[in-house]
Amino acid sequence: MIGYYLLLIQFFFTLVALFLFWQSVGYFRRMWQYKKFKSTLFPKVYESILQNIYQYRVLSPEHKDKIHFLILLFIDQKEFVGVKMAINDEIKVITAFYACLMRLGFEPGEKDHVSTVIIYPEHFIVNQTHLSGGIHHDETFVLEGQSANGTVVISWQDIKHDIAEQQKNNVIIHEFAHELDFEDGVADGTPILESSHYKIWSEVFSKTFDTLKDQLNNGEMSVRSELLGTYALKNEAEFFAVCSERFFGSPQAFKAYFPDIYKELKLFYKLDTQKLFKGL
Ligand SMILES: [Zn+2]
Repeated sequence: MIGYYLLLIQFFFTLVALFLFWQSVGYFRRMWQYKKFKSTLFPKVYESILQNIYQYRVLSPEHKDKIHFLILLFIDQKEFVGVKMAINDEIKVITAFYACLMRLGFEPGEKDHVSTVIIYPEHFIVNQTHLSGGIHHDETFVLEGQSANGTVVISWQDIKHDIAEQQKNNVIIHEFAHELDFEDGVADGTPILESSHYKIWSEVFSKTFDTLKDQLNNGEMSVRSELLGTYALKNEAEFFAVCSERFFGSPQAFKAYFPDIYKELKLFYKLDTQKLFKGL
């Protein structure tokens, strides 16, 4: 009997040792990558691509150093797949820039679950079937972007349009916000927060969402609803994704009209975009 228990204890400790070994391999691999990219010079060609983007040009030298490192890491770690198009430096660098801009306040690797970025040349069509009243409905959607389970799908035409027009819309930020929201396994507009923040987050977001939704249903439009657009009111997940777009794309107006939500997003993203991007 004692021999049996000894065997069980031995087995348990072997499992723990294997687990710790696996963890340390991952840790040292990450540290090696961080060291490598921290000492890598940011390519001039990448820098010239980013010069067209206001949010890049106005970053402080410290933030530029950090985002250069995050972009190099992103391009190295993520798989880019072009559908009926070739992936070039411009596509990689611009996608990486906006995805990393959202993570500028995070630690490297924090909340990072995207492994694949799929790029379509233009809008893409998705067929979905859903059940309603016992009947299957087939629907066709024309999409600018989509995200699920670590894969983000984006239309390059829409990225180019958002940048050229200095739009408050940004399909990359929108889709990566969905990925952040989905970190806890539920697309409900509430990403993983510090435990003390859930209550206030829920109050602030629900109150604003419900008010705007009621106004929309009554046919009323306000400056606030126009700033977000009606798509934001489709559900709570879209509301969070569009608010994230405005937080990075038009922070002056967003803070002025949605101060409570701005405050919550500032805490979540650990960035004060109204101060960072004074011209937006
Ligand atoms: Zn969406």
